[in-house]
Amino acid sequence: MQKDTDIKKVIRQHLQMDEFFTGGFGIKGQKIMSKEVESEESTIKYSAELEQLAEEVRKCRVCDLGYSRTNAVPGEGNPDARIMFIGEAPGGDEDAQGRPFVGRAGQLLDKIIIACGLKRSDVFIGNILKCRPPENRDPAAEEIISCLPYLQKQIEIINPEIIVALGAHAARTLLNTNKSIGQLRGQFHEYYAGLGRPPIKLMPTYHTAYLLRNYSHENRQRVWEDMKKVLAELGLPIP
Ligand code: URA
Repeated sequence: MQKDTDIKKVIRQHLQMDEFFTGGFGIKGQKIMSKEVESEESTIKYSAELEQLAEEVRKCRVCDLGYSRTNAVPGEGNPDARIMFIGEAPGGDEDAQGRPFVGRAGQLLDKIIIACGLKRSDVFIGNILKCRPPENRDPAAEEIISCLPYLQKQIEIINPEIIVALGAHAARTLLNTNKSIGQLRGQFHEYYAGLGRPPIKLMPTYHTAYLLRNYSHENRQRVWEDMKKVLAELGLPIP
């Protein structure tokens, strides 16, 4: 039985990786993903501290986005996650559902997670901004400043071994730099986790929305190289 499950897992991983590299991103992939996500929702663990923080986020009106959003998107995942994926801000699908990375960019992130031999419920997925900027515009500096304490607190509670910053906004904010994502990606940086706490390794990589717009083999290869470094750092097998 266990062997059967392992073989199915390996086949699924292989298919996802294959699709990721060959550019297949159609109906078939979406079906696999929604089943995957569905079957895993029940396994998402509960953390009272994270849930209390999520409640604060849902009530937050510190910036104007608190008035224009449909739903706040606090983030979700394993409270004991070894990896946190941090994106920029919710888009339309996320705003409608109150969940992070559930649109097309999210489906691609799911593929990457599965290609890594992991499940969505193994990791924590969040954003720099918890509410959608109108028309999906870039986050404004004052919005980032208002919202960042929520993410800092999530990182403090989860205390992951590695943060994967998806895209320039997440990487620049968490590393407090103006460098481009092209300059930052591909190597580990350190996220300053606060006084008396050891820094957390941070790997910047391309945002999946960018990847969808620039779906070249080279770009996918770059993301995969970044993820392989993350897996190696965690001592996890590289599929
Ligand atoms: N893009 C992001 O940065 N975050 C999401 O949650 C979805 C898309």
